[in-house]
Amino acid sequence: MKPKEPANLTEERVSRILAKVREHDFRLTPQRLAIIRILAESKDHPSADEIYQEVRALFPTTSVATVYKTIALLKELNEVLELGFPDGSNRYDGNRPYPHPHAICTKCRKIMDPKISNVEELSEEMKKKTGYRFSFHRLDFFGLCPECQKKS
Ligand code: ZN
Ligand code: MN
Repeated sequence: MKPKEPANLTEERVSRILAKVREHDFRLTPQRLAIIRILAESKDHPSADEIYQEVRALFPTTSVATVYKTIALLKELNEVLELGFPDGSNRYDGNRPYPHPHAICTKCRKIMDPKISNVEELSEEMKKKTGYRFSFHRLDFFGLCPECQKKS
């Protein structure tokens, strides 16, 4: 069983994304809606391929291009966060489409969203010390998750 967001939070996310999609006059096909739902429900930062497999179970004719196009659309609307990796195994967060710290398991690739208290301060300090005006940050912590620690 995959970890999922509570149903009410999923519905909130889905309605918010749909409102934005409509605002921009993007066509909403059943496949696109399914992809949006999968992203809003998931807690485990799925890859495009995982999303593809899930949509295909519902709509067998869906192409992988549809998945990528929908993700690109949601990125444009700032409604999905893309976690890019150099090997191309990008993952997506449809629940928190803004920068936040991630804990990434280098073995099983499990990605978690812990609530960390000092990110604002860190961001302020970065600004003060560099004079940059930041629009985005990425804070990834790599290592072994508790399950993989037990196995090793
Ligand atoms: Zn792990
Ligand atoms: Mn996340």
